[in-house]
This record gives sequence, C-alpha cells and structure tokens, in this order.
Amino acid sequence: MRQDGGIPPSREDALALDAADPLAEYAAGFEPAKDLLAYFDGNSLGRPVAGTAQALADFTLGPWGSGLIRSWDSGQDSGRETDEETDWMRWPEVVGDEVASAALGAAPGQTVVADSTTVLLYKLLRALADHQVAIDPARTEIVLDTDNFPTDRYVAEGIAAERGMSLRWVQVDPATGVRLEQVEEAVGPATAVALFSHVAYRSGWIADTEAITRVVHDAGGLILWDTCHSAGSVPIRADDWGWDAAVGCDYKYLNGGPGAPAHAYLASRLHDIPTLEQPIQGWMGRRDPFLMEQGYAPAAGVRSLVSGTPPILGMVPLRLALAMLEEAGIEAVRAKSLQLTDFALRIVDSWPAELGVAVASPREHARRGGHITLRHPRFIESYRRLWERGVIPDFRSPDGLRVGPAPLSTTFVELWDGLAAVREELVG
Ligand SMILES: *Cc1c(COP(=O)(O)O)cnc(C)c1O
Repeated sequence: MRQDGGIPPSREDALALDAADPLAEYAAGFEPAKDLLAYFDGNSLGRPVAGTAQALADFTLGPWGSGLIRSWDSGQDSGRETDEETDWMRWPEVVGDEVASAALGAAPGQTVVADSTTVLLYKLLRALADHQVAIDPARTEIVLDTDNFPTDRYVAEGIAAERGMSLRWVQVDPATGVRLEQVEEAVGPATAVALFSHVAYRSGWIADTEAITRVVHDAGGLILWDTCHSAGSVPIRADDWGWDAAVGCDYKYLNGGPGAPAHAYLASRLHDIPTLEQPIQGWMGRRDPFLMEQGYAPAAGVRSLVSGTPPILGMVPLRLALAMLEEAGIEAVRAKSLQLTDFALRIVDSWPAELGVAVASPREHARRGGHITLRHPRFIESYRRLWERGVIPDFRSPDGLRVGPAPLSTTFVELWDGLAAVREELVG
C-alpha cells in the first residue's frame, strides 16, 4: 500500500525539523561511528551512548579489577550498608527497576534483568503455562500468532511438546499484525497462556494490548507480552494495562549492546505462588544462595526469575542508556519516533510508482511502532551496497527493508540522506 504523489520533502525540510526537535541535543550523545551516513537499525541494535567505552574501562579497572569478589557482597551477612553501584548481587532487580521506570510503566519490584530474551521467554511462558494447568487441567493451549518472531514461536513449540500442550495459531497478515477480533476467536476454556509481541518485528504493528489483555483474561487465560520492539520506543503501561508478564530485549531501542541481558516483568499479584515457578532452578534464584543449602526454595518476589550468576558486565552500557531514556522521557521519544516515520513515509510516498517500492507497515499512528518496512524485490541485493556506503537499514526475507530510526540518535537529515541513498540504489 502506497499513497502516490505529494511534494517531495527537501533536505532543507529535514534540517528544519532537526532545528525544531526538542530531543535534538541527544543525537550528539552517542559514541562516534566511523563512516556512518545513516543508521536505520535502532530497532535491531541501538548505538552505544557517549561514555559507554569509558564506563566499561572504568568498570574493568574499578569494581571488577580492584573490587574483585567484594563487589558481589550483598552485605546481608555483615549487615553493612552497601552501595548499589557495587552490589552486583542486587543488579538484576536494581537494573530491572530502571528498565521498569524508563520503559515499562511498571512499579518497582516486578522486573529483573537476566539471561537472553529467549531464555526468559522460556522461563516465563513455562511458569505461566504450568500454573494454568495446575489450577485447571483443561487449559492446555498456548495461543500465539504465525508472524511472531521465530524464537517466540520455537520456544512455545518446545514447551508444548515438553508439557503435552497444544498451540493455537492466530494467522496474521505480515503487513499488519494480530487483531483483537482474532484473539477473541482464538481464546476460550482451553486457553492457558497467550503470547504476542506488543510491536511486530516485521511490520511494526502495535497490538491493541490493553483490549487483548482483557479478552485473554476474560477467557481465563494469562498473557505474556514480548516487548523487544516496544521497550524504549513505544510507551508501555504494564501495570495499568493489567499485563501478567512481559519479556524483551535490552539491545534494541534500549541500547544495552550486543547480547545485553534481557528484561522480564511479572506482575506482583503473580509472585510467590507455589504453582507458578519458573523451571530453571538455579542458586541465584534461591532464597539465601550463599548458605549453599540442600534443596531449592525460590527467593521471594521477582528475584525467583533469576537462575545463575547475573551478567553484570552486560548491564554496564545498559544502565547509561537507561539514564538517558529516563531523562529524555518515553513520551517525548515516541513523539519524535512518529515524526521520524511520518517523514520517512512522506519521502517514500513521493517516489514515482514505477520505482515499485511498497510500504508494508501500518500508517495510523495508533498502530505504527518505531520502524517501517519497505518492500522491493531488489532490496535483497541493494542492502549490502547500502551498508558499504554507510547507510544501514536491515533486510528481512523475502523483500523487506526495515527503516528503524532511533529517536534519540537519529536526525531527520540522516533519515533524508539515507532514504535518498536507498532510492539511488534502486534507480542506479
Ligand atoms: C529481537 C527479538 C528477539 C530476540 O531474542 P534473543 O534471545 O535476544 O535473541 C525475540 N523476540 C522478538 C520479538 C524480537 O524482536
């Protein structure tokens, strides 16, 4: 779907938008990137915020190199006050609360940072599914959609096989995403858990999360939201929306760095329930881990979602990025994000129809996430040439080019220059 015509926005228009942008100063707050003309992949790997390299060096020499194992000290044994900066034992919850505040709209004490997205999806989906079956053995279905991210689908398939459950697939159009009516049809007395992405990784479709959550609850189900493409881009109000659980990446719009540990949210009403336990029982999720006692007994609250030694080093860049997001504010980030994708759509709409570029993303603001996907059969060849030129979108099979500007690091003129290069590659 494209809307032909319109006056092509000029580079001066882009510069004017930058001049009027209240978040403009943040674009200079990132580590310099060599030979970068336009970065369109904030939705896949956010750029390091300025000071990340120094923070990693300082951390290596300080809390790690000099503090050594003392930095793990929770102070529980000695009763002494500890410093949050060096009390690594508490980082999963401390940094979890930082994510919750900056990006999830969640009160403290319900979020941890640990593991990868995939592992946390497994832990939470299984915990919720097992709980549902325990209280009602007829609830044997996991509801999910055909266009969810591969890892989400594979994890659900594995859990279904492992627990003798079945999958109920919602068939969705990859250019949009899961719709409320489809969920209404799919859920019922057999529903254990539903798993959907808040923002679809392909189209950028924003699910009607509040209504879908209500429909799943009305059917007696629980719901797990994947926040990989919404956290740090689209405002989330997990508590207000009645979410049960959420899992998402911290390396996309949250700029935590490649493989940064992920976040998991579990609503406090679901804490400390004996039938609702995540399956990877490790010492770091145990009550009093350093007593090294026989038998597993989960820690109270959200800490029980932790399994092994927290990935401390991976949280150092994330904390800097979260501080920037907290300061800028997610509402302002979202406002600029919409302006950026509006501007991108105006540019693409002004291209001649013969160019053959189609937009495979929602146009309405309420349904459009932080990125848009363009389709053209030749994108599969052109994206590598774009990369060589320092214009970096990503390619999603079979013919999708994702343009994911990051509101804090991407300027309007960068977007204009990058899209001009995309067009040149198709014409030239
Ligand atoms: C990026 C992404 C993932 C990635 O999972 P990892 O375990 O971090 O590799 C999962 N789900 C969605 C929806 C994603 O967009």
